[in-house]
Amino acid sequence: MSLTPYCHTFIALGSNLENPTQHILQAFDELSKLPASRLLTYSSLYRSAPVGRLDQPDFINAVALIETALSPQVLLNTLLTIEQQHGRIRESLNAPRTLDLDILMIDDLQCKDDNLTLPHPRMHQRAFVLQPLIEISPDCHIPGKGAIAQFLAACSEQRLEQVKENDIK
Ligand code: ADP
Ligand code: MG
Repeated sequence: MSLTPYCHTFIALGSNLENPTQHILQAFDELSKLPASRLLTYSSLYRSAPVGRLDQPDFINAVALIETALSPQVLLNTLLTIEQQHGRIRESLNAPRTLDLDILMIDDLQCKDDNLTLPHPRMHQRAFVLQPLIEISPDCHIPGKGAIAQFLAACSEQRLEQVKENDIK
């Protein structure tokens, strides 16, 4: 009997179009139904200022942790399919979106494939990733980089607030 290796995988969720909160909550549900996977935990929701292109609505962000036996490529394709089912249109870099699902880290894996870079190359610069990540994994380290607490401290000027439970609709 062979044991299937399960990987711990952090996924960043973001949305700033068409009731973003509902897109994120629905995406949590979809992550809980991924094949050969289990949703272990997810963060609260955060509201963040857009990055790179400022003339667009605030984002709602969160981070989820799953364990999965899917290969990185299959997982990526599955997440891109979920984005499409949410009506995601790829217009340009940093454009508004109904749903963005980024793979932050898969165990200690480091790779630079054509369509998949791990750990996610910009995660250490973004408070809207680091704050929900530290909420669900306080001792988290980015493979090849270091503890997330130090990176979060360097993002203190980025506008980010936790969404209160009562404000979730
Ligand atoms: P971004 O999330 O940077 O705004 P997109 O969501 O449009 O950009 O993603 C563009 C491409 O980035 C995806 O089609 C995917 O192949 C690639 N990509 C590379 N590394 C990752 C990763 N770690 N997670 C998700 N997508 C990634
Ligand atoms: Mg993306």
